[in-house]
Amino acid sequence: MIPRPEWLKQKAPNQEVFEEMGRMLELLSLHTVCESANCPNIGKCFENKTATFMIMGDICTRNCRFCAVPKGIAGPLDFQEPLNVAKACRQLELKHAVITSVTRDDLEDGGAGCFARTVEAIRLLNADSTIELLIPDLCGNWSALAEIVIAKPDIINHNVETVPELYEKVRPQADYGRSVELLRRVKEMDGQIYTKSGLMLGLGETDEQIIQVMRDLLLAGCDILTLGQYLRPSEEHIPIFEYVTPNKFDELRDIAIDLGFKYVASGPFVRSSYKAFVAMEELRKG
Ligand code: SF4
Ligand code: SF4
Repeated sequence: MIPRPEWLKQKAPNQEVFEEMGRMLELLSLHTVCESANCPNIGKCFENKTATFMIMGDICTRNCRFCAVPKGIAGPLDFQEPLNVAKACRQLELKHAVITSVTRDDLEDGGAGCFARTVEAIRLLNADSTIELLIPDLCGNWSALAEIVIAKPDIINHNVETVPELYEKVRPQADYGRSVELLRRVKEMDGQIYTKSGLMLGLGETDEQIIQVMRDLLLAGCDILTLGQYLRPSEEHIPIFEYVTPNKFDELRDIAIDLGFKYVASGPFVRSSYKAFVAMEELRKG
């Protein structure tokens, strides 16, 4: 195993803050991807009273080899969940709410209806808050995607996660072309919604492959890009090929901006939802 470089060492999160957030989540029967995916930013985000809610349970029907979210047979939907997410957003006074889900290939609409109901509930209880959805590929069900688009979140994010050359190894049940097409369809359906995507680096991708993905995303109209370091959640997961240096992340951010993205977050700890409100604010400023 390659030892973790200095730039990836972080202080332990504050237990008190953790417990307070935990109590609220338990009370409202909510999950966060922050906990389920062992996100390295959890201490900082919880301290800043930010979290990314993960709807439709905490069991994923897919088996991506990089992801810590538990896999298996997903349970029934909780019809109170959209309202509970909205209540949590209000309690945390979120100006920018970020919602994701496990992938629900067992549901006919892939969970699109639940995303739409969650947007409606957040709007109802948090009129001034902007909303970002990080959605799965819905198995290419574009009428289900339309249901999400009609709910009109401010940002729709769908991560391509890695370069197409590594899909078989990293995301065996996903399809790169389908993911890019999803982003293109969102823009085609509603050009006012910002689209966003991201990649984890350090899995063995080359610079040329990353730049080609940037070009593919831009061709699909993608506005925002995130680039972060892949961190192996356990020995069971795909190994890290390399730790990408902070300088390299800066270099890639500059390339992405030059190519035409409206906003790029690139750095070892960047995750698609890390400081997501910053991108929203920058885009609003124009
Ligand atoms: Fe949660 Fe996103 Fe922050 Fe990670 S970066 S702790 S997933 S809000
Ligand atoms: Fe994790 Fe998403 Fe893959 Fe499910 S589809 S295993 S939540 S990355």
